[in-house]
Amino acid sequence: MTSLLQHPAPLFLFLMVAAHLLEMLALLLDGRQLRHPLPPQLAAWVEEETWQKSQTYTRARHRLAFWEANWNLLVLLLFWFSGGFAWLDRSVSGWQLAPWLTGELYIAALVLGSYVCNLPFALYGTFHLEARFGFNRTTLATWLGDQGKMFALALLLGGPLLAVLLLVLQQAGTHAWMYGWATVTAFSLLLQGILPRWILPLFNRFEPLPEGELRQAILDYAARIDFPVGQIFTMDGSRRSSKANAFVTGFGQQRRIALFDTLIQQHTQGELLAVLAHEVGHARHHHLPKMLLLGTLHTGLLFGVLALLLPWPGLYQGFLLESMPLHAGLVFFGLVIGPIDLFAGILFKALSRRFEYQADQFAVRSAPEPGALISALRTLAKENLTNLMPHPLSVLLHYSHPPVGQRITAMEQALR
Ligand SMILES: [Zn+2]
Repeated sequence: MTSLLQHPAPLFLFLMVAAHLLEMLALLLDGRQLRHPLPPQLAAWVEEETWQKSQTYTRARHRLAFWEANWNLLVLLLFWFSGGFAWLDRSVSGWQLAPWLTGELYIAALVLGSYVCNLPFALYGTFHLEARFGFNRTTLATWLGDQGKMFALALLLGGPLLAVLLLVLQQAGTHAWMYGWATVTAFSLLLQGILPRWILPLFNRFEPLPEGELRQAILDYAARIDFPVGQIFTMDGSRRSSKANAFVTGFGQQRRIALFDTLIQQHTQGELLAVLAHEVGHARHHHLPKMLLLGTLHTGLLFGVLALLLPWPGLYQGFLLESMPLHAGLVFFGLVIGPIDLFAGILFKALSRRFEYQADQFAVRSAPEPGALISALRTLAKENLTNLMPHPLSVLLHYSHPPVGQRITAMEQALR
């Protein structure tokens, strides 16, 4: 036990490989589900051809996820056990910059390296896989523009946050973790505020829903249930993909609802109102503030554990470092806590799925056409070639929304 605490590399390796194997198991089980013939409860609304196509699409996405995860693990292990983390630290420390700047460069180099490693998979996913199934609308120019904007945002937002975090953790003594927690919380609240106004419009065009039948129907519905819907926008989702969606940002007076242009094209007015009613259900149940609160508590917990792990020499020795630089400690903490934090992810997703059921029930009770959300979900699932029968392990690990079949069943029960 003592030697494992002094030389914990095998322990770290075990954690990472265990988490990886769990992911692989979920992929395998999910893939097995795809061999089933079309089940009768789905046959009522899914055509055999769509069923086959959604299975082929799911298989193709699984294959990509499989290779990507294995490639990432392989690169990490090669870098780790060839002493890459120590080599990079020697290189950036050699420039004799201020500690926070050294830290920034160290972490930026790792982020950039991992970005480059993932690039082939991202390109293949968008321009081959999504294109093969007719979803991709992204041109190379749009894609390059997106990458440039994301780099700029990482530099302008991520850079200062990391600098403050490094300075706080270095200088604030025993209560540093609390200041770090406060920093990250303040930053994420700020992000909530600037995301809809400044960041999302960099990537998409948002236009107020024009005057007309749909807008009037939405306003009538909002008046009937006495709910301030806030501003309603259409978003040019068709710029990147034919897949449709809708989402809400902010709460209270700042609430904004965005309907993809693809959603408006594919659905009837009754269905669009039902989708909106689902979003109103989230707001009525205060799901967003609840999630933000829980997320903040979770961040606090992580900072508490970080404070315990940072002074532990084993954290650095495990990744073959002789010294204990803060920036490397942050990276190693992230690598070690990832597999353990999987449990928090599972809890958060379970709660999120519960919230989705609640919002669905609200839509069934309050939308002008009670069954319209069911037909909207059916259309969405078919258009997006959603995996209709995911394995429970895959749902447990990855699904923030319940599988569409289960959502429909729950709504059908409520309608009876
Ligand atoms: Zn929802």
